[in-house]
Amino acid sequence: MGEYIIAIDIGGSKVLCGILDRSGKILMRSRELTCVTGDPQAVIDQTERMVGEMKLAMGLWEQDILGIGVGVPGPLDYQAGIVEESPNLKWLKYPVREELSKRLGAKLLLDKDTNVAALGEYYYGCNCQCRHLIYITVSTGIGGGIIADRHLLHGQNGGGGEIGHMVVAPEGSQCGCGRRGCLEAMASGLAVAREANALIARGAGQRILASVCPGQPVSAREVAQAARQGDEEALGLIDRIGRYLGMGIANLVNIFNPERVVLGGGMALGLQDLLLPVIQNEVMNNVFSLHRRSLEIGMTRLGEDIVLAGCAAMVLHSPVAEN
Ligand SMILES: [Zn+2]
Repeated sequence: MGEYIIAIDIGGSKVLCGILDRSGKILMRSRELTCVTGDPQAVIDQTERMVGEMKLAMGLWEQDILGIGVGVPGPLDYQAGIVEESPNLKWLKYPVREELSKRLGAKLLLDKDTNVAALGEYYYGCNCQCRHLIYITVSTGIGGGIIADRHLLHGQNGGGGEIGHMVVAPEGSQCGCGRRGCLEAMASGLAVAREANALIARGAGQRILASVCPGQPVSAREVAQAARQGDEEALGLIDRIGRYLGMGIANLVNIFNPERVVLGGGMALGLQDLLLPVIQNEVMNNVFSLHRRSLEIGMTRLGEDIVLAGCAAMVLHSPVAEN
């Protein structure tokens, strides 16, 4: 049986591939910007080439590979291995598991990237032997994975854990999904940029504007920079974002009663010093004392490699690998 795991994290902005050993250690990684043309085959070609180059560099043959784990953006029909619709990748009803298996081999396990990340955190991040964990990624969008009683929650069709589309403000901003006030519409990187632009359009937000490079759009990065310089408007904006995240997490904590809630993703990690205290405060004030007991809310230490770690966990802890 092979000793190496191939891990693949396909996202709207990057394809990240890795080769890991049975302990979950990354032995080699390769990262490229995603070739988004609207034609899924271009991304499959790119992924196949990246994996081929890594195997060649490490001198690995087919028999050396224990399994292949893949994380792709949702919503994903988990049973069928079909990406239902991915706005970032511009994929619609694309049978990604079948197409990747044709190129890379049949020992391939696939799940939604945020579910895979939750597994990565569960097995390699917190390392706390907990039974109940919720992982939330906050970047351009918001997603998550829920582990309840040591099982990853998929739901009937694989659509479970769409944390970003929990409504936290019924009269709030329009979400990409068509509804109003989803957590993603109120507290993602796009929401921060939208709020900052609205401030600037009103003639306010001058400290935020001063942090923007000429010709560049306003993003969460500039808001954070202004906030760290003590700008009240930027601090107010981040406080609002943090309270929405806290409200969403409090809802989840009241429903699932987890031991740990772990945040990751570019925006959460980049703003953690500003966001985490607000989130913790909001959650602790809005859950029952029973749910507060032993609850930890923190940031992942796995950074961008969390999905790679989860791919290894998926392969190693699948029923096939455990036999
Ligand atoms: Zn939504």
